[in-house]
Amino acid sequence: MNRPKYHFYPNPHDEYAWTKCPKCYTKTRVRKFCMMIHYGEKPLKFHRMVSLRMDCKFCTECELIIKRKSEIESFLQQLVESWGMKFKPENCFVFGTMDMKDWKQSQQTPFEPSEALKKIAPFKDVLDFKIQPAGWYFTGDKE
Ligand SMILES: [Zn+2]
Repeated sequence: MNRPKYHFYPNPHDEYAWTKCPKCYTKTRVRKFCMMIHYGEKPLKFHRMVSLRMDCKFCTECELIIKRKSEIESFLQQLVESWGMKFKPENCFVFGTMDMKDWKQSQQTPFEPSEALKKIAPFKDVLDFKIQPAGWYFTGDKE
């Protein structure tokens, strides 16, 4: 695998668009990312890697990718159901990104699984921000 890249915030709050970064208040931009998702039944009888190209909110200062959890899950639900399986949100794990140029290449010639793994940059961390009526606070901050 590549070196870890980007922080990721799976936004559980559908009503929050995060036009500003929850960490530094900078205005977020929209950028397309290729998210790599692992979907696995527990115990691990079945697992598959899914790449999902999506517009995400992005803070260039913090390298923070923000994406609504519900959007990722609804996409995966359709996909998993198309495999004839029942979708369980707890089985999905969004663990990193792939460079768009690698993603484009993989669409023409799919990578071997071992080769694909080398192209994936795992997230540095997955963050969570709690929203309070007056705003929000960063749950990782103990001060
Ligand atoms: Zn930021």
